Amino acid sequence: MIDLRSDTVTRPSAAMLAAMMAAETGDDVYGDDPTVNALEATAARLSGKEAALFLPSGTQANLVALLCHCQRGEEYIVGQLAHNYKYEAGGAAVLGSIQPQPVTAAADGSLPLDVVAQFIKPDDMHFAITKLLSLENTWNGSVLPLRYLEEAYAFTRERGLALHIDGARIFNAAVALGVGLEEIARYCDTLTICLSKGLGAPVGSLLCGSTEYIKRARRWRKMTGGAMRQAGILAAAGLYALEHNVVRLKDDHDNAAWLAERLREAGVEVSRQDTNMVFVRVPPEQVEPLAAWMRERDIRLSAGPVTRLVTHLDISRDALETLVAAWQAFLRR
Ligand SMILES: *Cc1c(COP(=O)(O)O)cnc(C)c1O
Repeated sequence: MIDLRSDTVTRPSAAMLAAMMAAETGDDVYGDDPTVNALEATAARLSGKEAALFLPSGTQANLVALLCHCQRGEEYIVGQLAHNYKYEAGGAAVLGSIQPQPVTAAADGSLPLDVVAQFIKPDDMHFAITKLLSLENTWNGSVLPLRYLEEAYAFTRERGLALHIDGARIFNAAVALGVGLEEIARYCDTLTICLSKGLGAPVGSLLCGSTEYIKRARRWRKMTGGAMRQAGILAAAGLYALEHNVVRLKDDHDNAAWLAERLREAGVEVSRQDTNMVFVRVPPEQVEPLAAWMRERDIRLSAGPVTRLVTHLDISRDALETLVAAWQAFLRR
């Protein structure tokens, strides 16, 4: 089966499973799990932050991040289509009484700072208190420019806000820019990272920030049910992923570029930004037939008027050849 729905569908490799089997464990709620501690120390080092925290999912990492930044009656400014506004079931509002202030993102996923400025509330009892700017990098596969991040960081310093990056796919951004994670993370206060996407781990996310911040995050993680016991088995997969699966993200990007080019040649309207996602425009009446056609050929994709194809470590160039051939056959049918 060829599964291009998301880079979350990867299965742990034999070598990753072996690392998990060999993991030394302890009770992480007591702080005793050496493998979790090693993963958190590695994440802190790579991001250039003082500390990091291992959590079960990216959604929980973002929730805990928001709970740390904002109290009840405070707000965060966030993209209208951002994951931690639109795709996390309203967790910050429901569980934290935190008000989101969504704004429309530019085409590259940046939140224009003049627009953000208009939404920062003055100190007035009518308004929620604006505390945080939350950005997403990568955004639909595109990388936020470092220059923008630098400006956004300086802007938040001037305006007394914190800056959080939802970096579920931040390593894709780092690899696409050819920089270390630290070069991006220096422009934020806190950062979340998913190990379970392009990095190929089965489970797990990280939240990085200052020592004091991560201490508070640890309590919110406990409260939201994310503190785990012999979690070193999962952390071992994360450590393996950080060691072996970062540099190879370039293969996914190259594969996505190759796929976009081939589909374009086949006469399909395609856009691809900087990393591992290709978006294909499909006429509405062809969406269902395309999905059925691919299903019959054991190819899975999120079919829609804009069909998203995501490359990842379980998708080889051969698999993409098969996909392109299937697509061409669909157009000729
Ligand atoms: C996937 C994703 C998340 C959430 O991660 P889960 O581990 O699926 O909860 C958060 N933000 C972005 C941008 C994502 O793509």
